[in-house]
Amino acid sequence: MERIKEVVLPTLSLERYVAIVGAERVAEVNELAANLKAKLDGGVIWHINSTAVGGGVAEMLPPVLGYCRDLHLDARWLVISGSPEFFRLTKRLHHALHGQRGDGSQFDAAAREVYDRTMRENLAELLALVQPGDIVVLHDPQTIGLAPGLSEHGAKIIWRCHIGRSEATAEADAGWEFLAPYLKAAPRYLFSRDEYVPDRLDHGKSDIVAPSIDAFTPKNQPMLPETVRAILVHTGLLAGLPVPVGDLGFERADGSRGRVDRFVDTIRCGPPPTADVALITQVSRWDPLKDHIGVMEGFARWHTQSSGQAAELVLAGPTVQSVADDPEGPEVFREVFNAWCALPHEQRARVHLCMLPMVDVDENAAIVNALQRQSQVIVQKSLQEGFGLTLTEAMWKRKAVIASKVGGLQDQIEHGDNGLLLDDPQDTDEFVAALGQVLGNFEYRRSLGEQAGDTVNERYLAIRTLRDHLSMMRECVDE
Ligand code: UDP
Repeated sequence: MERIKEVVLPTLSLERYVAIVGAERVAEVNELAANLKAKLDGGVIWHINSTAVGGGVAEMLPPVLGYCRDLHLDARWLVISGSPEFFRLTKRLHHALHGQRGDGSQFDAAAREVYDRTMRENLAELLALVQPGDIVVLHDPQTIGLAPGLSEHGAKIIWRCHIGRSEATAEADAGWEFLAPYLKAAPRYLFSRDEYVPDRLDHGKSDIVAPSIDAFTPKNQPMLPETVRAILVHTGLLAGLPVPVGDLGFERADGSRGRVDRFVDTIRCGPPPTADVALITQVSRWDPLKDHIGVMEGFARWHTQSSGQAAELVLAGPTVQSVADDPEGPEVFREVFNAWCALPHEQRARVHLCMLPMVDVDENAAIVNALQRQSQVIVQKSLQEGFGLTLTEAMWKRKAVIASKVGGLQDQIEHGDNGLLLDDPQDTDEFVAALGQVLGNFEYRRSLGEQAGDTVNERYLAIRTLRDHLSMMRECVDE
């Protein structure tokens, strides 16, 4: 059985960015790439993670790699595989690095054996692909255990950690302790935020690269209002008569045409919202740190207090079993469902639990795009968050956003300027007040959204990540 899967990616034209960020920024990246290519001398840049779909890493790799290929760099994406117990352990590690207990299991000898065995099995196949001198970017705790073997083999290792928390805790320390033996083999670390670099790591070997979104993917490309409506009506997210199939089209990541055909699995007890109703939306994996239940409770309270203002809440996530490295999905969804059942009928009828089809990632992205564009307010009320690409996506669409002041969410928002930040993500009153502030004022929403779009243009587009990666890799090869 093959353990390593390669995700074949289309080449993407970087020239498209000239229209958005200007020729100078594009030329700078071209030059960096030419320089790196000469130094690599035929070497490959491998990115290795543990899921091809779902979550921020799977979202970011295709554009960054696609543009590298356009710049004549051989950049490829490999996905490791593991048993359910391996993914339970790595989800436990994920929670630990966020300072949470997760399922509370121990990082003991048995856990180490599960982890090391998975690494050995995957490494055996990787050694046939990776050549000495190649650059290997390992993503997150799921793959850092490959560092010793690959480094011994002569590859240049960079560990890209997408998660973390600002303050040390016993949980976080236990997670880092577990990873310590592997970390030594990676000479270079990449984090999303300076605060995430733990004290035990050499800060001098750590670079900070904020994540980004690509302006041209099915998730972020411009979408006509009639396409937004058609996709949402067709999938069952909005009320309406059957739509012409011609309106369901979008451009796939590889530039070919796509069409939304599948429906969204939605749990609701009332009719779907009509197009004139204000939608409040949170798009997230079914993960306890995304605090779906808190969002629902806050919405219900706001609704009770708002004198009949028409707004409905959409909690959208992937179909529960579709994200390979996130085994908690079904259980978390059940808890969200139970909390939804417990809402008073009047509020329950205005909350829609939506599982988006993940069979075709471009189709999934087009549905997310349409949903974000139709929404008046987009929320990301996470209790912890690595960076929070869903927020970036919403800001790019010039939406009014409300997010918790945690992790990378707080880096993206200047409170009151390009969005609203919740000081305490657990404080429902604060969330209810923020909802009231934006829902009651069209002009305020518009101005927050305009600023938000400009922020993403300046700081969080794929071309900036690409530039950061290329200059860091050039240094890495020089070392
Ligand atoms: N996402 C998606 N479909 C879903 C749920 C999430 O495409 O049903 C995407 C979302 O649009 C974003 C990514 O998954 O691009 C989530 O990244 P984020 O950084 O917000 O959180 P993570 O899942 O990495 O914790």
